[in-house]
Amino acid sequence: MYLGKVIALVLGLWLTAAAPAWAQESCVLIQGAMDMEVRTLVEQLEEPQTVVLAGWTYWQGHIGSQKVVVSQTKVGTTNAAAATLLGIQRFSPTVIVNQGTAGGYPAWLHKGDLIIGETITNAGAVNVARREAGQGIEVREWTVRDEFGPVRWQSDARLVRLAEVLSKDYTQGRVHKGTIFSSDRWSRELDYIAYWQKKENALGEEMEAAASAQIAAAYQIPYLCVRVVSNNEAAREPWEPVEAERLASGCQEYIFKLVAALQNR
Ligand code: SAH
Repeated sequence: MYLGKVIALVLGLWLTAAAPAWAQESCVLIQGAMDMEVRTLVEQLEEPQTVVLAGWTYWQGHIGSQKVVVSQTKVGTTNAAAATLLGIQRFSPTVIVNQGTAGGYPAWLHKGDLIIGETITNAGAVNVARREAGQGIEVREWTVRDEFGPVRWQSDARLVRLAEVLSKDYTQGRVHKGTIFSSDRWSRELDYIAYWQKKENALGEEMEAAASAQIAAAYQIPYLCVRVVSNNEAAREPWEPVEAERLASGCQEYIFKLVAALQNR
């Protein structure tokens, strides 16, 4: 009798402890900064429920049987960090996908090409070497600094592989895997771009991925960054709003397929 109670108690405790892992339904949080970077996804959700948290908008719905939440982070690092944290606390996502437009760095990367951000580097985390008054500014003495904590983030290897597998169906351009350089900056100096392309292996820059990757990592949530090149200074391919919107939409179609494929894995 006593032994039975002990067994029941131990079993009960074990079940309680194990329950969250069993019970957690998978949910993919898909992020885009601007209206045009989320619209195509939101249009494809069946009867999306809109939730606004402190000014950031989320649309809850499904892709097939996969539960998804589309999140408009708004532009920039602070917005992206806040939208990611609020999204995690409210929806408990099991995967976070950050997608949208980016500026390409190498001249061989063209508008429409996709960058699978295997590594995302915080481009604002730099050490600047001292120079005396009148000595000017020399970016080529700058280095990415990580003495105050991590500043480079990795997309989840399994998600990167899936993104690569699905790249055969992507028709807007080629698909490359590499580093995304992320900060609130929009760079147009070719020497700056060439320097970081060489030094950090950066394929392109944008303004949200490092911030959301950092928050995702704090919660140990598998993360993926995929960006479509919408402009490239080195290739003399400027940002054109209508074209950027079309490219952003194609990127979302690709993400839609990726999330649909996720449910079968
Ligand atoms: N310049 C555009 C607005 C883009 S704002 C306009 O005038 O309408 C910047 C957004 O685009 C950010 O969300 C950022 O992630 C992305 N982006 C695209 N290309 C970029 C680049 N070359 N540098 C930085 N961010 C870029």
